[in-house]
Amino acid sequence: MKLSNRITNITGGGSDGWDVFYRARQMKDAGQPVLELTIGEHDIRTHPDILHAMHKAAMGGHTGYAMVPGTDALRDTVAQRIADRTGVPTTRDNIMITSGGQAALFASHHAVCDEGDRALYIDPYYATYPGTIRGVGAIPVPIQTRPEDNFQPQPDVIAAVAKGAKSLLINSPNNPTGVIYNRDTLDGIATVCRENDLWLISDEVYDTQIWDGTHISPRALPDMADRTLVIGSLSKSHAMTGSRIGWVCGPAEVVEGLINLSTHTTYGVPGYIQDAATFALNQGPQVETEVGAPFQHRRALTISALAGQNVVRAVPIQGAMYAMLDIRATGLSGEAFSNALLDAEMIATMPGESFGQAAAGHIRVAMTIDDDAYTDALSRLVAFAKTCT
Ligand code: PMP
Repeated sequence: MKLSNRITNITGGGSDGWDVFYRARQMKDAGQPVLELTIGEHDIRTHPDILHAMHKAAMGGHTGYAMVPGTDALRDTVAQRIADRTGVPTTRDNIMITSGGQAALFASHHAVCDEGDRALYIDPYYATYPGTIRGVGAIPVPIQTRPEDNFQPQPDVIAAVAKGAKSLLINSPNNPTGVIYNRDTLDGIATVCRENDLWLISDEVYDTQIWDGTHISPRALPDMADRTLVIGSLSKSHAMTGSRIGWVCGPAEVVEGLINLSTHTTYGVPGYIQDAATFALNQGPQVETEVGAPFQHRRALTISALAGQNVVRAVPIQGAMYAMLDIRATGLSGEAFSNALLDAEMIATMPGESFGQAAAGHIRVAMTIDDDAYTDALSRLVAFAKTCT
């Protein structure tokens, strides 16, 4: 029996640069002491207070079907948070609760793209982006950024392919580059969206992890609230990756459509998880600062570890939990370097190429292991890079 083209084509085929990741996992499973700097997951777990809130909600009976768009309490909490942070009037009618940011990305593209529409996204990109776009039947169109621009998107490059496209997906603070889009970039992107009647899908799941610069949500830019869908999640902000809880914030009529989609797919998100999320968001910014603090600290460790040499150079780490390292001075591709580093030092990193062509000659390091091991890994990485030149 034949599967649908849509599901068969989600991954797009071809090598995706993830081989080194799977090889590292195999080595680890075979008992080898591999240091994994690969996946964007905290080395701390969800705070026990949040788990107690989840337990209390479940024991209190919130285990039946929950409201499909999300509980009123969580939608109100998210709406208030967004209104406070951006100044854009936001109510629960603008909020759809989803099973994490990933489901929010899928639902958003589903809401705005028809079969065969061109959906733009910025390269380098979070690994699931093209597959998410293919998954709704649209055509993914990558827009390259350049290391010499520190991977800031250039609005004129977007404008050159925007005609006739349906949507543009952006991500700031960015995974994999750690870059935060500045005001000029975002103003330029907003102009391109208005002039070409594009929906803007703004993935802001790292918006609590800002180390240098300011996070601006493009929904707050002039005339953008009616065409912007913001993706949010508690995965990164509250170390709740496994709870699968996030949201889409957008115009009320989009949320109406998303409710229909959810009714026919997930039928909502578990009530006790939503209660825990409401509790977590109401803990205030201190908790979010604490969750992000190890990355801010390791950002400083990264800068010191790379000082005094220029074989391995870091793209400015402005936000999120990653360091994008330029290893072009070794003459190797990101993929060749990552593979060689794994073999020589048992340190697993992600080749830049696994995030698109724009990050060729780079590797992404997730700053997600304890400080001592992280510092040791970086000094071995630099020493290894020097042997390649
Ligand atoms: N967007 C970006 C940029 C991410 O890095 C991730 C997770 N790594 C997600 C969305 C999805 O996160 P989640 O589904 O856990 O909220």
